[in-house]
Amino acid sequence: MMSEKKHALVTGGSRGIGRTIIETLLAEGFEVWYLSRSKAEGLEANHISCDMANRGSVEAALETVVSEAKYIDVLVNNAGITRDGLIMRMKDEAWDDVIAVNLTSVFLTCRRIGRLMATQRRGAIVNISSVVGIVGNGGQTNYAASKAGIIGFSKSLAKELAGRNVRVNVVAPGFIGTAMTEVLSEKLKDQIKSQIPLSRIGNTEEVAQSVAFLASDKASYITGQVLAVDGGMAM
Ligand code: NDP
Repeated sequence: MMSEKKHALVTGGSRGIGRTIIETLLAEGFEVWYLSRSKAEGLEANHISCDMANRGSVEAALETVVSEAKYIDVLVNNAGITRDGLIMRMKDEAWDDVIAVNLTSVFLTCRRIGRLMATQRRGAIVNISSVVGIVGNGGQTNYAASKAGIIGFSKSLAKELAGRNVRVNVVAPGFIGTAMTEVLSEKLKDQIKSQIPLSRIGNTEEVAQSVAFLASDKASYITGQVLAVDGGMAM
C-alpha cells in the first residue's frame, strides 16, 4: 500500500520565514495549507484567507482546513507581528494586537489541531518564538511577552499531548533577514550584528531547516524543547 501524503498547516506563510518553511515542507513532499491575509504568488500550497487577530476568522479557517485536509501531521505557528514602543507610550491596541496575533492565535490553532492530532495519535507542532522571548528587549514588552508566552504554552502543551504521541517544540530565531527586519536602519542593523557571536544576520532557510527537523521523524524523541536559531545571541 502506498503511504499517505503528509499534511502540514502553517500560519502566516505568505512571505518571510513562513514562506520558506512552506517551500521546505513542499520540497519534502508535504501537502501544505497556510493561513494569512494575503496569498503568496507562485506557491504550490492551499491558501485559506484568515486574519489571525480575529478569533472568528481563525476558527472558521481551521474548520475549513480540517474538512479539506482530514488529517494534519505538522502544525507550524509562524504568523507574527511587532508593534514596538516603550511601555510609557504603548497604546492598548499595540499590546492587544500583538498578543492576539502572536499568542492567542497559537492557543486557537493548537486547541483545534491538537485535538485532531490527539485522535490521530500522531503529530508534531512547531511554534515560532524569538530570541526576544528568551532574553527580553527594551521597546518590545508586548512582543517579548507574546514570544515568552509561546515557550511556556508549548512546554505545557508538550506535557499534555505527549501521551498521544504528539510532540510540541519551539524554534526561537534571532535576527533574520525578512520584511520584519528590513525596516530597521543600517546603523541599528550594524549594532545588532555586533551582538551576534556569528557576526551576521540569519536567513529564512536556516530557520526553516530547524523547523523541518523538529517536525520530522528525525526528532521523534524530542518534545518540549526550545531550539534557538540565532547565531549564538541567546547563549
Ligand atoms: P514577516 O513580516 O515577513 O511575515 C509575517 C507573516 O505573518 C506574513 O505571512 C503575514 O501574512 C502573517 N501575518 C501577520 N499578521 C497576520 C494576521 N493578522 N493574520 C494572518 N497572518 C498574519 O515576518 P517574519 O517572516 O520575519 O516572521 C515570522 C515569524 O518569525 C514571526 O512570528 C516573528 O515574530 C518570528 N521571528 C522573526 C524574526 C526576524 O528576525 N525576522 C526573529 C524572531 C522571530 P499576511 O500579511 O499576508 O497576513
